[in-house]
Amino acid sequence: MLPSSELPIPTGGQRTISPYYIEKSSFQLFSVKKKKKKEAMAAVSAFTLLRNRGISTRAFSNVKSSPRPISYINYKFLLSIQSRRSLFRTTVINDEEASAQEAAASAESGAPTIFDKIIAKEIPSSIVYEDDRVLAFRDVNPQAPVHVLVVPKFRDGLTQLGKAERRHREILGELLYAAKIVAEKEGILDGFRVVINNGPSACQSVYHLHLHVLGGRQMKWPPG
Ligand code: AMP
Repeated sequence: MLPSSELPIPTGGQRTISPYYIEKSSFQLFSVKKKKKKEAMAAVSAFTLLRNRGISTRAFSNVKSSPRPISYINYKFLLSIQSRRSLFRTTVINDEEASAQEAAASAESGAPTIFDKIIAKEIPSSIVYEDDRVLAFRDVNPQAPVHVLVVPKFRDGLTQLGKAERRHREILGELLYAAKIVAEKEGILDGFRVVINNGPSACQSVYHLHLHVLGGRQMKWPPG
């Protein structure tokens, strides 16, 4: 069995480490003798950070490039950052769900949404594509290098996809086709994702039907 300090975990380029390899290494680390336990725990903790996309690669390379074993204080420091980050993530998710619930409550009020203002050019947006029935503009809070929203200019009852009726078939097709034009214009035709969040449990926050066109990075599946 290799002592943890000799485990051949590369520094730099940690993104290429196979999760299986790290799991295996972590198991080995757990098995080292008691005097190495503290060091082992620190390395495993760093791996957990890596897996949780927390401090990620930098924390991990700091652990490996350190000439001495990670001290107990550093170990506690890494753990405290990890718990703060998960707390932050939980808060963000709760906020997202709460505002989605709030938006749903007034969904059918008929009141104009922020997208009506963008369509009317009353508030600025970064327009990517426009025709007489469809507008595509960049999301103000992008979740990928390319994140464009495609909306019908006339809402016509389409607060969400779940409200679609037969008469909407044409505009639904136009929206999808516009998504393809956006992907082409943005240079992501070889790989992009089109998302429609429908209703509070899908965290829809604006009740004017819209397609998210996302790309420019490797997408993961299943989505969150
Ligand atoms: P959803 O949560 O699916 O309803 O998506 C609504 C999207 O609208 C979110 O991704 C927001 O970031 C985006 N958004 C809200 N306000 C604006 C704005 N003024 N300009 C561009 N995108 C916006």
